[in-house]
Amino acid sequence: MNPIQQRIEAMNERVAQVKEAGWYFYLQPLEELDGAWVTTGGRRMLLFAGYSYLGLLGHPKITAAAQEALARYGTGTQGVRILAGTLPLHDELEETIARFKKTEAAIVYSSGYVTNLATVSALVGRNDVVICDKYNHASIVDGCLLSQAKFVRFRHNDMAGLERRLQQADPNAGKLVVVDAVFSMDGDVINLPEVSRLCREYDALLMVDEAHSVGVLGETGHGIEEHFGLNNAIDLYMGTLSKPIPSVGGYVAGKQEIITYLKHVARAFVFSASLPPAQTAAAKASFEVIEEETWRVKMLQRNVELFLGGLKARGFNTLNSETPIVPIICGEDERAFQMAKACQEGGLFVLPVVSPAVPVGLARLRANVTVDHSEEDIAYALDVFERAGKAVGVI
Ligand SMILES: *Cc1c(COP(=O)(O)O)cnc(C)c1O
Repeated sequence: MNPIQQRIEAMNERVAQVKEAGWYFYLQPLEELDGAWVTTGGRRMLLFAGYSYLGLLGHPKITAAAQEALARYGTGTQGVRILAGTLPLHDELEETIARFKKTEAAIVYSSGYVTNLATVSALVGRNDVVICDKYNHASIVDGCLLSQAKFVRFRHNDMAGLERRLQQADPNAGKLVVVDAVFSMDGDVINLPEVSRLCREYDALLMVDEAHSVGVLGETGHGIEEHFGLNNAIDLYMGTLSKPIPSVGGYVAGKQEIITYLKHVARAFVFSASLPPAQTAAAKASFEVIEEETWRVKMLQRNVELFLGGLKARGFNTLNSETPIVPIICGEDERAFQMAKACQEGGLFVLPVVSPAVPVGLARLRANVTVDHSEEDIAYALDVFERAGKAVGVI
């Protein structure tokens, strides 16, 4: 049989098996959204799998900005940014992001995934080295592979490992280090002070993915530098417009010369249509709301403390998470599926993450806490997790 056909059939079989076991939780439509409460399959459930950490999805100011742009410009654009696809809104969004990140300029792409793919592959090529934390997001890995640069990785958050990689690099090669600010499966934070120091020492450019950092880390949600009390520690600040920012798209902020370079070299910017007007306006308004409604970041951080503290007190292993992404380690894949099923029966919409997305033996529930959760919601969820954890032998 054609090996392509073989792969297609193997995956279809695996999906069918998981469905038969009653462990298939994916691609489930949410019919109604009411803050942290969602309706799925006609049933109201408490969501612990969403990315709207600051509760901005459906925010009146953001929705109004999108509606106004939609009424004025319609549903699309005249194509790519560099030709006829730029509206004043795109420039304003980039200026807003640059200001928010305290950089000179920014570039916006059509998704966060595409941002990493296009940026990394525009920066490095055949004779360069790109160095990654082993737990970096898939979109960074794909960007590295596409670039054809030498691609090397160091153990998760292991600074001695990073230094060895920098030392081993060909002294004539261009060096780029890319790390997540907050790791998307573990919820822990990169050791930015040390990564930044090493990059300066070894003359490497540093790109940091703040998908789960902007709106989350730092006293006012400005991200990982604010968290550590640093300035100008990063060369390229990457982020997404689809998580705490309730829109779609991705960006890189940095020095004007880097942004000018990307606007003429990054292929997904040059050869792909610009963000639609409504999404652009929504993203811009969202950055403004984060700065206007400072209580949201504080409330998120309080909820993270309540939720993480409650899970730890009940004996769950949450690795080194200190963010709204909370892994609840279950062990083998099967146990994570059982745990998810028990929690869903208890009314929580929470999902399992299994290998190969996470290492074998570290299958987990990935629970996300947000501003939309009340104290009562969190208490309710902790009860469900505890009962489920005891029933399936996780605690
Ligand atoms: C979600 C995510 C992305 C991709 O962002 P999208 O806007 O969803 O395409 C990139 N990096 C990290 C770390 C992410 O978690």
